[in-house]
Amino acid sequence: MSFPVGVSACVIGEKVRFDSGHKRSPFVTKELAPYVNFVPVCPEVAIGLPVPRPTIRLLDKGNVGDIRLVETKDASKDHTERMVAFSERKADELAHKALRGYIVCAKSPTCGMERVKVYRENGYTSDISGVGLYTQALMDRMPWLPVEEDGRLNDPILRENFVFRLFALDDLYRSVESGVTRKALVAFHSRYKLVLMAHSPERYRELGRFMANIAEYDIDDFFHQYRTQFMQSLAIRATRKKHTNVLMHLQGYFKNNLDKSQKAELTHLIHAYRQGTMPLLAPLTLIAHHLHNHPDDYLASQAYLKPYPDALRLRYGL
Ligand code: SF4
Repeated sequence: MSFPVGVSACVIGEKVRFDSGHKRSPFVTKELAPYVNFVPVCPEVAIGLPVPRPTIRLLDKGNVGDIRLVETKDASKDHTERMVAFSERKADELAHKALRGYIVCAKSPTCGMERVKVYRENGYTSDISGVGLYTQALMDRMPWLPVEEDGRLNDPILRENFVFRLFALDDLYRSVESGVTRKALVAFHSRYKLVLMAHSPERYRELGRFMANIAEYDIDDFFHQYRTQFMQSLAIRATRKKHTNVLMHLQGYFKNNLDKSQKAELTHLIHAYRQGTMPLLAPLTLIAHHLHNHPDDYLASQAYLKPYPDALRLRYGL
């Protein structure tokens, strides 16, 4: 099983940077690669800039909303229009490829996702926190798409959240592969209830109400709205407190099956996770064991319990 994920070409080792170098990410190219078909793009090369090339940067000329992409040593060499035109065209093309996510190169005036330096004409940096022009176009065109920077993927929590979203979006697309139907979407939503609770109880309730009214919508309109709302809900960070609530909810399913000491053992692990002395995997492993001994179709279907391949070892750091 593999799925398409867009990537800044330099992040998978293509020597396309201004200095003919690359920014190869070991996590992306080794650990994630077996599950993914990369769709590499270097927007700067795509608009005709050479390798090597003069460095470029974002320039705030003082007019609200007018951030230019110019060469560092000669601001009269302005690539803004070409980059915006390419980015909008490419984002539109990629929107039809059902990408499951996009990994962009941090700090780049073209590919950076956040906190890209923006300069003023006097050479000082502006207070504005910039976004690379290409990545801005991607995020505007595909607000449902998980987008993350290479550097941030070294953080175990951000990495887990991003990879989780890739697999969730893949699951959504596979669920409607043979047609977008109410039945398929209701079944999908049902499998993600615990996940949504862990990310945002408020969004969980909102999406539940939205799903309850599915019959009132044109099914394709519903799907597009649901995809964005669902994916944006998963982008909200799942905290220890919210995971603890989900674990206690899960515990409730076994109240008639476990004896006193088994209940105490599970309570202890959930509490230890809440206190930060045990990883999430500890109570989840015990819950998986109880589920094996006391099968429950609803729980077994929950993506919360098996979100992505174990080989990615993403829950160890949570
Ligand atoms: S950051 Fe983007 S524009 Fe720059 S080299 Fe990498 S892919 Fe190309």
